[in-house]
Amino acid sequence: MGNQLIVQYPDPRLREHCKPVTRFDSSLGNLIDDLASTLYSTTGIGLSAPQIGQLQQLFVMDLSDNQSDLQVYINPVITQKAGLAIVEEACLSLPGVAANVMRASTVSVQAKDRHGNIRETKLSGMHAVCIQHETDHLHGKLFIDRISAIRRLRLRKTLKSLESNTDVPLNSSTYTQF
Ligand SMILES: [Zn+2]
Repeated sequence: MGNQLIVQYPDPRLREHCKPVTRFDSSLGNLIDDLASTLYSTTGIGLSAPQIGQLQQLFVMDLSDNQSDLQVYINPVITQKAGLAIVEEACLSLPGVAANVMRASTVSVQAKDRHGNIRETKLSGMHAVCIQHETDHLHGKLFIDRISAIRRLRLRKTLKSLESNTDVPLNSSTYTQF
């Protein structure tokens, strides 16, 4: 309980399809608390359950400056996408890797809250980008799957180091981590 280790690429758990949450009980509450405290121990703005080794469909995000706006999305489904946003993304599970990713700039998302109540939210800007990055995690997708082959080639060296478990020099993060 509490802060969890963040699963790192190329761990196969990052490539799994996560199971929908079916029980809205105290163990779900504990998982949400673990996700939140682990997120708050990083400089990231979002964290999904598979990133702490729990293959369930949920994630948390908080875009405030002072950890005051925790949002929990359980079994999220993106029902609408519009517009275009290109943001330099980085992932807490791929330290040292950052790349521009094309996403929708506005999304509608249907999800349950911690009590199992369903709601639909429309979000734009960085909130929308974060929702798309985290929802991808729940289906085994990483942001490096969404960049061009040429860009991925440029990241090859860093990815290889991660794959061979060599330490990657961490540039102080000016980019947004999810
Ligand atoms: Zn990520």
